[in-house]
Amino acid sequence: MTHTLLHICCAPCSTVPLAALLAEGTPVFALFENSNIHPAEEHERRWATFASFAENLGIGYAQGAYDPDAWDAAVGTHAGVYPLREGDPALAEMRALRLKRCRACYAFRFERLAAYAAAHGFDAVATTLSISPYQFTALMAAELAAAAARHGIASAFNDYRASYPESVRRSRSLGMYRQNHCGCRYSAEEAALERAARKASRKAGRETPREAVQEGRGA
Ligand code: SF4
Repeated sequence: MTHTLLHICCAPCSTVPLAALLAEGTPVFALFENSNIHPAEEHERRWATFASFAENLGIGYAQGAYDPDAWDAAVGTHAGVYPLREGDPALAEMRALRLKRCRACYAFRFERLAAYAAAHGFDAVATTLSISPYQFTALMAAELAAAAARHGIASAFNDYRASYPESVRRSRSLGMYRQNHCGCRYSAEEAALERAARKASRKAGRETPREAVQEGRGA
């Protein structure tokens, strides 16, 4: 039987993958390995949320060493704020820049995951991060496979994206803390910019021509 080390990105994303693995009787041990999360208080909050969930499930779990300086050194060459706004002429360019940063981030976390797995006798690695429709799924799969191969174990990558709405529903019903950005400080800034852009767009949509004229902004 394969013993899989499951990378946990956060508790909400882990709800469906853990339920599926437990339902099929797969032995699973979870590793919270996320030096990308900024600041340390946010990392602690997400870890505490997951630890509480894992305790309730009765599964084995651990936390990888939190080392944001090492993450910065590894991912920093691609660091930057790249908000992805529909209709922005720079959308493709910003997406490409964010893609490089996220790929380096996957590589960093999965290398540590695979090293831990090899050192503790696991046969395979997997990740809950693949449930997010906001990630670069193919690159994530490639980086997980590469990290696993470097350590002589298998990748048990599973694309969970179809279950994302269910993970939102379950995590809400459990009253879990749900963060509003991916993790790094750049993603926090991007999410804030994207929220502001959506808000402005909604406001513009609600504004009737009569109101626009009254405010002196009519055609
Ligand atoms: S947006 Fe998420 S995956 Fe991308 S670099 Fe930041 S923390 Fe890592």
